[in-house]
Amino acid sequence: MDNCIFCKITAKQIPAGIVYEDEELLAFKDINPAAPVHLLIIPKLHIDTLSSAQPEQAALLGKILALAPKLAGEHGCAPVTHADGSVTGGYKTLINTGPDGGQEVYHLHAHVIGGPKPWRGQR
Ligand code: 5GP
Ligand code: ZN
Repeated sequence: MDNCIFCKITAKQIPAGIVYEDEELLAFKDINPAAPVHLLIIPKLHIDTLSSAQPEQAALLGKILALAPKLAGEHGCAPVTHADGSVTGGYKTLINTGPDGGQEVYHLHAHVIGGPKPWRGQR
């Protein structure tokens, strides 16, 4: 789609710190990270927003969600359960939708936000 920054990243017309790519998805580092790890997962297909995704795109949405833990793990954010039962690590998976949802870029994307505190709770 013309003038869509994420379509331009998909087309490699503008650079991004790409961390994952397959036929349907692209993941790259957020240009203005809110945390030590801040990745964006997008479908290569332009979809404006979660609310405009169609029922037949459910599998594509599922692939976005399934990619989040894989990338979080690769970037050191997987939750770890210790011998004493305590858990450390973890991350947020976030899809902002529409103006009141805080969406700024109208190409569907999931944020994967993690890393050591104290960033926690800022989004
Ligand atoms: P939203 O508020 O729409 O959920 O999030 C959009 C995100 O895209 C923001 O966190 C913003 O920093 C990021 N972003 C906007 N423009 C660019 C860009 O050109 N490159 C990259 N890598 N991230 C961008
Ligand atoms: Zn787009």
